[in-house]
Amino acid sequence: MATIKKEQAFIQPLNPIWYLPYVEKIDMLRLDMLHPVISGNKWFKLKHNLNDALAKGFDTILTFGGAYSNHLLATAAAVKEYDLKSIGVVRGIYPEEELSPTLLECISNGMQLEFISREEYAKKDNDDWLKKLLDRHPRAYIIPEGGANEKGREGAEEIAEFISPEYTHICIAVGTGTTFIGLRNALPAQQEILGFVPMKQGQYIEDEIMPLIKGYKPWELFDNWHFGGFGKWNEKLLAFMNNFYVLNNIPLDFVYTAKMMYGVEDLLPQHFFPPNAKILCIHTGGLQGNNSIQELMEY
Ligand SMILES: *Cc1c(COP(=O)(O)O)cnc(C)c1O
Repeated sequence: MATIKKEQAFIQPLNPIWYLPYVEKIDMLRLDMLHPVISGNKWFKLKHNLNDALAKGFDTILTFGGAYSNHLLATAAAVKEYDLKSIGVVRGIYPEEELSPTLLECISNGMQLEFISREEYAKKDNDDWLKKLLDRHPRAYIIPEGGANEKGREGAEEIAEFISPEYTHICIAVGTGTTFIGLRNALPAQQEILGFVPMKQGQYIEDEIMPLIKGYKPWELFDNWHFGGFGKWNEKLLAFMNNFYVLNNIPLDFVYTAKMMYGVEDLLPQHFFPPNAKILCIHTGGLQGNNSIQELMEY
């Protein structure tokens, strides 16, 4: 894809001096710098899917997401670059005057939106339901919600190329777990991977991740820092984000990366990490999501 160059991502040391007694260092991999909306992990999960669609002669990409979905917008923007058409199947029925900033941007990137009820959306991975959807869109290549398929995981494995063996712990936010799985499969066993799940009672995702991880390698998921659930926030989280920006000059998104960093900082004084730990936190992007709370942010 022409506009995305891997070199735009880089590793940035995090500054706060108070980290130091607890660990040797904490760095951040700035995948958010790849592109304003096809950012972070999303384009890794999309690229093999899009290349496959092109190779097989499809002219339309169809995928799924909620009204604030980073995946939906990343797909709209990436598909535009590929000169294909895109259809977004949206969870929930919204009148035109109540579209989220994310959905409006999907439309301006040429995505055709189809709204379905939450009950209907829950069937989206069901074969018969998908068959009916394909009857309506016979030329569409379907990518599951969040790019959560084998091609998505394969693409996510490429993120490992940025990660040197010096790091002992890799921290990443988890949604579908696709990026986490790709990374766990690609990185060597001596690097431990910690996933931060922003959903309430998010441990269920462990059962979905487990069978897709190859071989025995250390990994752990945390669901303590959900702040009320997926997409929820409170004053404490926003103050944390604003402060993190002042200290490190890095904007975090409130859905995923802020909750991950909050969790990492909480684990430090608990001595979760050994003092010689070299930690790499992955900034998976998603900053467009902050549009819905823009007036509360200092960046
Ligand atoms: C989508 C997204 C995730 C979750 O990725 P999965 O591969 O679905 O686990 C994490 N962080 C950000 C910023 C995202 O947009």
